[in-house]
Amino acid sequence: MGHQGNAIQRCHVYFLAGDSADFMEEEAKVVRASVGTRLLRGLRFARTRVRELRMIGKALASTKHPILVHVIPMRQCNLACTYCNEYDDFSKPVPLDEMKTRLDLLADMGTSIITISGGEPLMHPELDEVIRHIRRRGMIAGMITNGFYLNRERIERLNAAGLEHLQISIDNVVPDEVSKKSLKTLDGRLEMLAQYAVFQVNINSVLGSGVKDPEDALKIAQRAVRLGFTSTVGIIHDNNGQLKPLGEHEQEIFEAVMELGKRSFSRFNDFQHNVARGKEHEWRCRSGSRYLYICEDGLVHWCSQQRGYPGIPLAQYTPEMRHREYLTEKFCAARCTVSCVQQVGILDNWRDPQNLKPMPITPASPPAQLVQIGQGRGDS
Ligand code: SF4
Ligand code: SF4
Repeated sequence: MGHQGNAIQRCHVYFLAGDSADFMEEEAKVVRASVGTRLLRGLRFARTRVRELRMIGKALASTKHPILVHVIPMRQCNLACTYCNEYDDFSKPVPLDEMKTRLDLLADMGTSIITISGGEPLMHPELDEVIRHIRRRGMIAGMITNGFYLNRERIERLNAAGLEHLQISIDNVVPDEVSKKSLKTLDGRLEMLAQYAVFQVNINSVLGSGVKDPEDALKIAQRAVRLGFTSTVGIIHDNNGQLKPLGEHEQEIFEAVMELGKRSFSRFNDFQHNVARGKEHEWRCRSGSRYLYICEDGLVHWCSQQRGYPGIPLAQYTPEMRHREYLTEKFCAARCTVSCVQQVGILDNWRDPQNLKPMPITPASPPAQLVQIGQGRGDS
């Protein structure tokens, strides 16, 4: 779940646990929420939409605050996807008071959206309080999870805490030795979300080299839309978040999934089409400024795929540092596939050319040691 990234480098050996088409026919029933849940959902959607529009207005009016921040309250994960470099199997949850301090610092900077990522955030024992604190401080609350801990009670707790967005990344239709995040293992939980969640749900699927069956992405997206969710598709990048072109057939599937996902924000953005075609794209990455990645140690990083820089504790990260990063050209931008940072970039691409180079900065403390099996993405 580092989970926003789309990098993936999969294993060489695959096996199928069943026939995916049969599974889809058997399982793909439509689930509906009660009238009460639908009303509450409509209300929360409308409120979030208003807050999002306000967020866009504020971002256009000023470049001085972060638009989107990823925070990591829990680096540990219950799964071990072989491509992932964003989890470990030992670290403790970040204490609630520490999380609140970080969120206060971010709120004081004027941050609009907080996305909780990991590891697996649902393993954090006080996650509801983390979400409540985000909302209390007036920020939009989102989360990326592998979904394995979701059940009716947990979904209702997330409703009560005020969660506004949830994303689950699904890698395949049936689990394999690379990833257990499959439609087969998660479909029951997706149905519970369709029945009980009052927050918005997005299902992300993946395409790219090493993905065994590209049709899976389309099946996952179709199921998501049938359940009333939005769907997006991530394109595989290497372990530096960089571009790999899709094959012709994968490109067709990519376009079909994008068409299905029309309700999502990414339709306004054609960078993903460039990524799919392996074309470099011109944009200004404002990470370190308009987008921040705060690791479990409370250090600021450019993004999940460029951890280590600037590596400064959040409490010491000044407005001048943010402004410097705003104007710093990122060497990895032309071939970047980290879609959330690109979406944030849209709001500033038209202004303020970047002409500074990254400053050599020594990290305040060594980065946490992560389990690194294979290479690539974490996107729960
Ligand atoms: S361009 Fe920005 S978001 Fe993309 S990999 Fe580089 S630092 Fe990360
Ligand atoms: S991709 Fe997500 S679910 Fe898989 S190991 Fe990484 S953090 Fe855990």
